[in-house]
Amino acid sequence: QATLKGCGKDPYPDWKAGEPVPYAALCTTFSLIEMTRKRLEISAHCSLFLRQVLRLTPKDFLPTVQLMINKLAADYAGIELGIGESLIMKAIGESTGRSLAVIKADQQEIGDLGLVAAKSRSNQPTMFRPKPLTVRGVHEGLLGIAKVQGHGAQDKKISGIKKLLSAADAATAGKGSKGVDITKDKGGPSEAKFIVRFLEGKLRLGLAEKTVLVAIAQAVVAHEAAVKGETPSVNKETEGEAILKTVYSELPAWEAIIPAMLDHGLFNLHEVCKLQPGIPLKPMLAKPTKSITEVLDRFEGKEFTCEYKYDGERAQIHYVAPEFIHKYPESTATLQKDSKGLSAIFSRNSEDLSRKYPDVLEKLNGWIKSDVDSFVLDCETVAWDIVSKKVLPFQQLMTRKRKDVKAEDVKVKVCIFAFDLLFFNGEPCVKKSLRERRQLMHECFQPIEGEFQFAQWGNTNDLDEIQNLLEDSVKASCEGLMVKMLDTEESGYEPSKRSRNWLKVKKDYLAGVGDSLDLVVLGAYYGRGKRTSVYGAFLLAAYNSNSDTYETICNIGTGFSEAALEELHKELLPLVIDRPKPFYSHSNVPKDQPDVWFEPRLVWEVKTADLTLSPRYKAAADEFEGTTGGGKGVSLRFPRYIKSREDKKPEQATSTRAVAEMYRKQEAVAKENAGKGGVD
Ligand code: ATP
Repeated sequence: QATLKGCGKDPYPDWKAGEPVPYAALCTTFSLIEMTRKRLEISAHCSLFLRQVLRLTPKDFLPTVQLMINKLAADYAGIELGIGESLIMKAIGESTGRSLAVIKADQQEIGDLGLVAAKSRSNQPTMFRPKPLTVRGVHEGLLGIAKVQGHGAQDKKISGIKKLLSAADAATAGKGSKGVDITKDKGGPSEAKFIVRFLEGKLRLGLAEKTVLVAIAQAVVAHEAAVKGETPSVNKETEGEAILKTVYSELPAWEAIIPAMLDHGLFNLHEVCKLQPGIPLKPMLAKPTKSITEVLDRFEGKEFTCEYKYDGERAQIHYVAPEFIHKYPESTATLQKDSKGLSAIFSRNSEDLSRKYPDVLEKLNGWIKSDVDSFVLDCETVAWDIVSKKVLPFQQLMTRKRKDVKAEDVKVKVCIFAFDLLFFNGEPCVKKSLRERRQLMHECFQPIEGEFQFAQWGNTNDLDEIQNLLEDSVKASCEGLMVKMLDTEESGYEPSKRSRNWLKVKKDYLAGVGDSLDLVVLGAYYGRGKRTSVYGAFLLAAYNSNSDTYETICNIGTGFSEAALEELHKELLPLVIDRPKPFYSHSNVPKDQPDVWFEPRLVWEVKTADLTLSPRYKAAADEFEGTTGGGKGVSLRFPRYIKSREDKKPEQATSTRAVAEMYRKQEAVAKENAGKGGVD
């Protein structure tokens, strides 16, 4: 915290112990964060404020954190605001007595609905001072808006937004608001601005969840030390941060962690907050590799295993027998449970997919041998051909309905391929070696062809045998192999980590740059010829998590069937916006501009022949600033559309850092080849 001026003082002195956290206080902190791009300062502002909350009103700590991370609840709770720009504009207009046309014109000019809201509020004469907003009140208000469903939902949502906006100050009484032009200079600490940005799903503060996590740890360590009259040491901070990171990766639900932390202290948290069925943990991810020899180099001298890499949808399957449900109160609060116990399937993103796969859950009891009371399995769901008894391509799986599926209506049957066991009979098993976890899984579950099977595997370190396994996996309609460390503690399951202990070898790596990219659709160009009624090409971007921006990387018009283009046109129409968002980074040359811009929502998997640097695109441009004379970003050559990644959020798109790494690797290989006399 040494980097922050005024450190040690309360950032918002007007609030007294025991009073609800004023929303204005949080907005003042947001505004301070908005003024800097330095990571350390952002984190320090955040932790200073959280310390004040801990000291004065600890019971509001949870909603404060939730408003900071722009999430009303954990992902698995399925609470989403789902509010489009037009609805927000309507609410701003109605709550401030301005016409929709004026709001739209302002939006055209300013380009940030948050600032439009702030301006609209500031132009409005206030007859009486509304009761100040509190963090808890805003959280509850937003939750109410998110939960509205059914008939008349839109009107109810608008009225919920209006209620919040009417009580919001344009510029709060916090310091620094005087003399600030609301529409410029980031606008000062305006409540209206941050409410609207929350509704839009982006606070635009560069405040990633991992930064908030670090700030929470710092705040709690400092607070706990202060209570004991001690000074927190750097070691303690590091230790606290590590505990919180581990706990959060196993139990990514602040609703469960924060109350436990307040009751038991941060340093006891890993004893009371553990991976548990009913709360999906963040899945372990694999690193891409370019060749089998790269795998052998990495695992040289170590025991490893090669599993088939099934091409379907990740499925984390949770189960608790009826008589044990009472042990997991937090997990069971939002999930369906019946006389057969609790069972749920979660996606890679921790979304609850139980209503998509009722046919799977219905049969779950048939796979378990006796004496199983609870488990969490890591699996891949794959479409299954019941006649030829074979795996079907991913595209088949995508034709399944996504919600409210009735088991008896299912046309595309699926088979579950289990590859890991993470929790078993009341105990997490992530710390066991993969060999032990696998053995336990094989002992306690019963495979049934076409319904529940174990991922195929072979333990070998022989190049030819691995090559054969790779070919066999491809013949079995898989994407390639997942190569995993088998013994020693390095083979433990590492939640949320893209680990070097899991390597993916895809069949078509050798031709491309190693891995496909998952990119966000930001814009489109109208088609020509046969394609005039639909979009013919699209502008895609990678995600820069440091600056929270989307940086463009290519135009793409290849790989789409005519039918796909029509579908995409329909899907993209509701996402059209008037102008690029301020957090899009693209060339500003007029001829490079797309015909339409979109909300950043869709993520597509794309393959490319290779990467190059181009002034037209901005992906990772800041990383190559020095080498290219500035302004050039990495771009894809001959990009090809593979599929839509409905299981990924835009923030989970390929990062610009990964793009830069791919480019550097490619350049290094090219240099090496040139050195060998131009082998291609
Ligand atoms: P990532 O998840 O690594 O960001 P991605 O979502 O594009 O990338 P892939 O690169 O295709 O996915 O590889 C990882 C995915 O492969 C896992 O998330 C899982 O869904 C799937 N998978 C299939 N078979 C296995 C297996 N045997 N072990 C682990 N994962 C597997």
